[in-house]
Amino acid sequence: MAVHKIGVLTSGGDASGMNAALRAVVRSGLDHGLEVWAIHEGYRGLIEGGDKVRALGWSDVGGIIHRGGTIIGSARSEEFRTRDGRLKAARSMLLNGIDGLVVIGGDGSLTGADLFRREWPDLLGELASAGIVDAATAARHPRLTVVGLVGSIDNDAAGTDMTIGADTALHRITEAIDAIGSTASSHRRAFIIEVMGRHCGYLALMGALATGADALFIPECPPGDADWESGLVAALNAGRAAGRRDSIVVVAEGATDRQGVPITSERLRQALGAGLGEAVRVTVLGHVQRGGAPSAFDRNLGTLMGCAAIDTLLSGDADERSLVMGIRGNRVVRIPLEECVADSRQVNECLAARQFDRALELRGTSFNDSLRTFNTLVKALPHPPRPGQRRLRLGVLHAGAAAPGMNAAVRAAVRLATDDGHVVLGVRRGFPGLVAGDVAEMDWMSVNGWAPTGGAELGTSRDTPAGPDFYAIARTIEQHALDGLLLIGGWEAYAGAHRLFEERANFPAFNLPVMCLPATIDNNLPGTELSIGADTALNNIVSAVDKIKQAAAAEQRCYVVEVMGRRCGYLAMMSGLATGAERVYLHEDGVTLNALVKDLEMLVEGFRTGKRLGLMIRNERANDVYDTPFMCALFEEEGGRLFDVRQSILGHLQQGGDPSPFDRVQATRLARLGIRRLAGQAAAGQMSAEFIGMVSGSVAFGSFEDYPRLIDAVNRRPRQQWWMGLRSINETLARPAPRNGRPPDAGDLSSS
Ligand code: ATP
Repeated sequence: MAVHKIGVLTSGGDASGMNAALRAVVRSGLDHGLEVWAIHEGYRGLIEGGDKVRALGWSDVGGIIHRGGTIIGSARSEEFRTRDGRLKAARSMLLNGIDGLVVIGGDGSLTGADLFRREWPDLLGELASAGIVDAATAARHPRLTVVGLVGSIDNDAAGTDMTIGADTALHRITEAIDAIGSTASSHRRAFIIEVMGRHCGYLALMGALATGADALFIPECPPGDADWESGLVAALNAGRAAGRRDSIVVVAEGATDRQGVPITSERLRQALGAGLGEAVRVTVLGHVQRGGAPSAFDRNLGTLMGCAAIDTLLSGDADERSLVMGIRGNRVVRIPLEECVADSRQVNECLAARQFDRALELRGTSFNDSLRTFNTLVKALPHPPRPGQRRLRLGVLHAGAAAPGMNAAVRAAVRLATDDGHVVLGVRRGFPGLVAGDVAEMDWMSVNGWAPTGGAELGTSRDTPAGPDFYAIARTIEQHALDGLLLIGGWEAYAGAHRLFEERANFPAFNLPVMCLPATIDNNLPGTELSIGADTALNNIVSAVDKIKQAAAAEQRCYVVEVMGRRCGYLAMMSGLATGAERVYLHEDGVTLNALVKDLEMLVEGFRTGKRLGLMIRNERANDVYDTPFMCALFEEEGGRLFDVRQSILGHLQQGGDPSPFDRVQATRLARLGIRRLAGQAAAGQMSAEFIGMVSGSVAFGSFEDYPRLIDAVNRRPRQQWWMGLRSINETLARPAPRNGRPPDAGDLSSS
């Protein structure tokens, strides 16, 4: 084993999800037989040593996964920037016998860690020759192994799709802009909203895209015109003339003009005040963006990265060079720290040198796509069709249960297709609407304000077409001269599209291109790792479980929480991971009486030794016989007076509410790519039937020819479910303290 005793610290600005990462580092480390020591207050604490460096037990990181910030404190340390400071830090590492370091922080913190590692042999020599550490100690710690986790709300690190804390910050920003939007439209006001991100426009861009803001200023894309202020006023006035009731301008704190002069919210206020002739208000969001409970994504990201950090330390791969854990698609990747920091800094250097195009290019494809999409969606009115252009008639409809993000997808599809010169026809209430011919043209303003709303404005239905429906559907397609169909929905949308595809030989009208967009909270569709709506549902579950845990801990209670998903365990599995549930019951695994008895024994043992809360999450269809009431009755009866048991069936609250920022952005992205491909195929006379999705972080298209072999039709889920590989992580981290660790103590609210 390369290392025996490791230190973990959080440094720089705090970010939500750091606690989840800390918990994972500690528990995964202990599980592998390491000693894990917390270094409180970042590098400052390391330099100070003493009680700032303390061993952590299993239960010390219980009950923290849902808390924002970092329980071991973070700080900035000027002293660590000096060699003398790092010499003191090395001394305290050696005195405590620590030879591996997990650093959770931004690029500054990671740079400092890498420098520390490279200097280690020198620092060691100096301490040994000064007699501060003895030769034997020096010989035992010839090198320092460093692994980094990027904890930063800015999402400015190269090589990883997301940094810990960025998604939560986006939640805060989106909530704030949604709230401001309602007051702005009541009073017909203009609002300027300043968001964080330092030199990175990610939070501003995604916040603006998710909320349907009307203008955006980010560091990577300064306005092109010298007289951009007049252009902005004209664009906002045009929006008003087209029927918008408010104007929301989002500005990143690092935005500048082409000369590098900051575009501050105050500068914008003056520019708008003079030109708009109406009240202009400024809101600087500030530190609310850092705070609050971490989103489900950030908890799981922190957890996965924390576990990966331990695996990396133990593998020896970080012995010769520091490595940073990143995520691409849904997979953890390791990036050489030097490369990650250098690539991230390169963007800042380009910005400082006013090479904006290069900076934008370095931000990557998805950032650039999102910016282009925003620039189209934001227009007051679409481009008129080009002279002589063939105007395609594209139908759009939902099928399956409503999923948060459906409206954002329709809005994007309608606007982007209209801007390309086509006509979009909305079908009300899904397939029954298509049967009944309930079809109407949708124009640019018909989807105004749809980006932030939950539910499905177009209406949806779980019915799939059969028998006589096909004649009626063929008639509707012909009557409205549809050239293509965009279906945005869940299992029923895919099943329905497949039925139409199969019936092509019998109904010539069905020979038109069809595109399905995955939108269901169940995340049970083939061809995509994530469907629109699943992230919102996950966050709904996680915030409900947070509340349940709080109440339960006061009364020595075990909760069995039932979540949706039909026979697909995605929501149960991922909410279990994000809330630290002791057990997750999935249909995929089955439930046996033997397993329930073992779980019961675990509960009894836990409550006997001081545990105050039990949390089990089960998928609604995990087992139809051993259902939630049965499990509760079993645990309650056998738990006797040791603990109470309650069930909580979360029901439809999981499906409702405003979509999460991720779902809005994802819906917009998939709708843009889906409708453009559909239009391209219709124009080229291609009769494809496809579904779009995200696979390994990239957009992918699948064909309905392959659909039957990709699904488990009986259980209504895809044959491949990437997240099943995460079960062992939850099983390790959420179990009670191991026998060789410290038992749960009174301060520990749960083993979670
Ligand atoms: P955030 O993104 O939230 O600002 P950060 O990690 O980039 O986080 P910084 O203030 O840049 O925040 O760095 C945090 C600490 O890391 C510094 O106070 C300092 O102790 C250490 N550090 C940063 N840069 C270096 C460096 N070049 N050499 C040594 N230590 C450094």
